[in-house]
Amino acid sequence: MSRLERRTVFGAMTPLRDEECTPDIFMVAGFGNTGVVITEEGVVVVDNTPMTSSRVVEAIRARTQVPIHTIIYTHGHGDHAFATAPFVADAKEKGHAKPRIIAHKLVTKRFDRYQKLGSYNRYINRIQGGRGYARPKGDEQFLPADIVYPDITYSDAMQFKLGGLTFELYHYIGETDDGTWVWIPERKTAIVGDLMVGVCPNIGNPFKLQRYELEWAEGLEMVAGKNPNFLIPGHGRTLQGEEIQEICLDTAKLLRYIHDEVVRLLNEGCWIEEILERVKIPEDLASKRWLAPVYGCPTYIIHGVHRRYAGWYNGNPSELFPSKSADIAAEIVKVSDADSLIGHAKKLQQEGEIQLALHVVDFAIKGAKDAARRKAALLLKAELLDARAAAEVNTIASNIMLVGAEETEQEANAL
Ligand SMILES: [Zn+2]
Repeated sequence: MSRLERRTVFGAMTPLRDEECTPDIFMVAGFGNTGVVITEEGVVVVDNTPMTSSRVVEAIRARTQVPIHTIIYTHGHGDHAFATAPFVADAKEKGHAKPRIIAHKLVTKRFDRYQKLGSYNRYINRIQGGRGYARPKGDEQFLPADIVYPDITYSDAMQFKLGGLTFELYHYIGETDDGTWVWIPERKTAIVGDLMVGVCPNIGNPFKLQRYELEWAEGLEMVAGKNPNFLIPGHGRTLQGEEIQEICLDTAKLLRYIHDEVVRLLNEGCWIEEILERVKIPEDLASKRWLAPVYGCPTYIIHGVHRRYAGWYNGNPSELFPSKSADIAAEIVKVSDADSLIGHAKKLQQEGEIQLALHVVDFAIKGAKDAARRKAALLLKAELLDARAAAEVNTIASNIMLVGAEETEQEANAL
């Protein structure tokens, strides 16, 4: 199996089957999920995703022929808002009015940003998803051509009634700044998008812009405060009854804990390396399966909180205006030649110190003058990255490493 076939997909976040909450509310499982609410006057769809949108339309039509009245985007990410076209096509085919699209007002700004940074977003998502590293040409589109912008936007909260049900929409900031979660009081059901992802929240993602831990915690606490009977998450299985409180509040607790620790350590004068070293997650939280670090992880969250409050200076004045890493490596190789560095990296590999071995072999790769030694160092690095990926539980990290291993091996073979 090739490296890129070994890429990790987000298994824990993709439920295996559709689930029904009440006779009129169900979830179509996917990456991410879609919530469907059927009323006598029309259907309300919360989120849509390219892999499952057509199946959602089929699931609706298997139950009712009333129009699809409203589509709500919980936020503007591709797995929640990029596949509206099948619903519009259904309306056209049936002679119904086009469904209205409701979202927070910042979804529009997000779509505009995706227009501006199409190539970059495709590039980082290829790496994050373990699909390869091919450099973008600079003119790729990220938004699908048939993207549907919201018709109605709101700021803090809004509500509407349809077919005897109330739909309360609340803005929250968390994975994105444009988040909406939906509360249907008559059914005590919350449809929350990525406010709940079933595993550790993805704050401080290595590629993505700022995300918001405290506000995410507040959003989860507000959901828990409604005492839902059912919760349809953006990813993962539906939640029911008492577990909703436990999972929402545990997740909020983890986010608040990491936030407070980073703030405390910043105030003690620690720089990022020491903060990463010193924040320890309490065992009662670390052991929870719904906080498993398979998507987000505490290390990323620490970076996310740090970036929010601090600049990029790492505390070492030598590194304020650093020399090029290749120039530094060339000097190291003058002191300890490339063969010695490669030999030492292999020794570390045998001792199980894979991460340290990677750092050492990087000096040989960047500092070696001749192609044969560079090639040997590159091949060793690919092997180390493979080993590191195999031992890594975080899917984003293992995908970055597998893509890196593939790229490194190709670079070696081109020499
Ligand atoms: Zn999502």
